[in-house]
Amino acid sequence: MAGQRALSRLRRPDGACLGLPPLPRLRLGALRVTDGRPDALAHGRTELMAFPGRPSVHASGRPKFVHLPIRSILNSPQQTGMGFWSLNPYVGCEFGCSYCYARFAHRYVVERGEAGAAAAWTDDAFERQVFVKREAPDVLALTLKPSRLEGAAIVIGTATDPYQPAERQFRITRRILERLAQLHGLNVSLITKSPLVARDLDVLARLAERGRVTVYCSLISVDVPLIRKLEARSPMPPVRLRALAKLVEGGIHAGVMLAPILPGITDTVPQLLALMRAAKAAGAAFVHADPLRLYPAVRATLLPVVARHFPALLARYERAFDERGRVTETYARALGRRVERLRRRTGFGGHERASGPASEPLQWTLPL
Ligand code: SF4
Repeated sequence: MAGQRALSRLRRPDGACLGLPPLPRLRLGALRVTDGRPDALAHGRTELMAFPGRPSVHASGRPKFVHLPIRSILNSPQQTGMGFWSLNPYVGCEFGCSYCYARFAHRYVVERGEAGAAAAWTDDAFERQVFVKREAPDVLALTLKPSRLEGAAIVIGTATDPYQPAERQFRITRRILERLAQLHGLNVSLITKSPLVARDLDVLARLAERGRVTVYCSLISVDVPLIRKLEARSPMPPVRLRALAKLVEGGIHAGVMLAPILPGITDTVPQLLALMRAAKAAGAAFVHADPLRLYPAVRATLLPVVARHFPALLARYERAFDERGRVTETYARALGRRVERLRRRTGFGGHERASGPASEPLQWTLPL
């Protein structure tokens, strides 16, 4: 998920705010390398039945769901370099956000597959061929060592959405939560764009009774036409906000993950203010924000969208990010101040300290 960096900022012991390195290539999802190849692929794959009778959101037909056998499901902080345990029930995501950085992990799974694998790489493979870790709840039950998780955070959905449409059928995220809800003292977070998370309010409430639960509703704008330009098939903002309100009403600590903020597109005061007001109205407990990180895999999908819908910004997008895909320090600091000011204006507590000069350009000029 694109909100992962914001979470990392909150939880990394070194307090790093920006510049988190990309996830190690072989550690996303459940992949674990043994004998030079991911053991998840050693068993072959099976194409799974796709939603009998369910209309497809794709013009070209239903997405394909491919069984991805696994031997482990929890990624340790040592494996990922992040300050928390992570877990992703799916590889690939139907929502198809143009700024999603999880495509490279999906491509890795496709390209390292055995001959005759059910999936093949295409430009839209990430959205059209979703790998399903069907045994994840059982593997979790077998491999979980509660003592290792004591005092640590577990984040579900760091790479792909755990409540994407596939979850309606496979219910893997729900069964994982049910397993976790049998334990005491866990600190579990979820990141999702989907209102389907509200389906599991009962399990989340049980989990919250025994430990800590936080749901990050991922939302980068409340501008519906803009969202459809940037996120091909994600749920619309009002739907996500209603789910957020439902969670809050159900006693769940939940808020908005405003990431990535896209320079020149969603970083304006009207855009940010509208989103924060809507989040407040929905009862959000917080808004966490983070700027875009233009990884190479993100460049390939986002820049054509920028060229098509925001041509005046393309040249700046092409030259303004450093070799690690980071925005300039000047931009990051100015954006941090803006977010902080709007957060306070809309009644949210200050989660992130603003730094740098106290003034902000009156006219936002994308100082990348
Ligand atoms: S919702 Fe899916 S496509 Fe969009 S950023 Fe998250 S994982 Fe990527």
